[in-house]
Amino acid sequence: MAKTDFGPPDYRTMIPPVIANNYGKWSYHEIPQPGVLKHVSETGAVLYSVRIASARLISTDWIKELCDIAEKYCDGYLRFTTRHNVEFLVSDEQQLQPLLADLKGRGYLVGGTGNAISNVVHTQGWIHCHTPATDASGLVKSMMDELHGYFTTMKLPARVRLAVACCVNMCGACHCSDIAIVGIHRTIPRINHEGVAKACEIPSVIAACPTGAIRPNPKLKSVEVIKEKCMFCGNCYTMCPSMEIADPINDGVSIWVGGKVSNARTAPKFSRLAIPFLPNNPPRWPEVTDAVKHLVEVYAKNARAGERMGEWIDRIGWERFFKLTDIPFTEKHIDDFTFAPTTFRSTSQFRL
Ligand code: SF4
Ligand code: SF4
Repeated sequence: MAKTDFGPPDYRTMIPPVIANNYGKWSYHEIPQPGVLKHVSETGAVLYSVRIASARLISTDWIKELCDIAEKYCDGYLRFTTRHNVEFLVSDEQQLQPLLADLKGRGYLVGGTGNAISNVVHTQGWIHCHTPATDASGLVKSMMDELHGYFTTMKLPARVRLAVACCVNMCGACHCSDIAIVGIHRTIPRINHEGVAKACEIPSVIAACPTGAIRPNPKLKSVEVIKEKCMFCGNCYTMCPSMEIADPINDGVSIWVGGKVSNARTAPKFSRLAIPFLPNNPPRWPEVTDAVKHLVEVYAKNARAGERMGEWIDRIGWERFFKLTDIPFTEKHIDDFTFAPTTFRSTSQFRL
């Protein structure tokens, strides 16, 4: 084992002995009840992982509580999945029911496995980033308060992956989710010329724009934005704090559907636009939560068993999707990539 003084600690020092002893020998897993995965090794060894929901932005106090629970029932072993579900790794079968009863008593939601909505993957937004158009964490909390019945059961036709990105740069990779919520800016950056002159490196700001919408303004020792070319991505703001993009009135949320990362049955797919704009309406985002709930319900009612949302839409066609969901089809839904040289709003990959 290589010893280094940087990077994360070696995972092999932290896995339960049952995993270490059966490394490479796990034969299958089953889901005896929502939120409980039973992993069986070819040696006959068994490990249960018990999954609970988390709010993702969590306190150290809560992490300490989770550690206390893990100490009590599974020798301190737990893990966070990539979607920030928390999984207790139970190797003593006798501890399974007491752990589940304890979690229930504390009000924790056990689920997120199989044909369910798992924890929502979301970007961190204001907690560390400068270009959010919405509050990803607040939206996720509001949505899951409405949808938790689909987390604790497995009654959907297939799994539904929900994701939220707070701007179109989508650092959370929600472009391949069954339902993706993407925060959008709709107005060009507001330039504080004095600030640009004093604090920003103008060539870098110009180079940061993917559509070539920024040009120098030598008179003011600043820059100007060509409105028609701007796609409101906020990249320039990441280079220069004097080009503020956040707009409390015009920023909002769009909803995309039908993506998947899995290559089971059909190839992976990108999510595509369903609802171009909904208002930012904190603290509970009723328009967004209603729209997502409606999409989940229409999908649950109409899709065949095993069909992911994108597969269902491929089978019935987009026209019927818009009809069934009652979502108006507008010119915003038309992919205008072919006309990129004239619209400049099609892709962040496009450069003049
Ligand atoms: Fe920042 Fe955009 Fe990622 Fe949100 S999605 S954290 S605003 S880059
Ligand atoms: Fe700034 Fe993006 Fe508009 Fe260019 S396209 S001016 S980088 S917000």
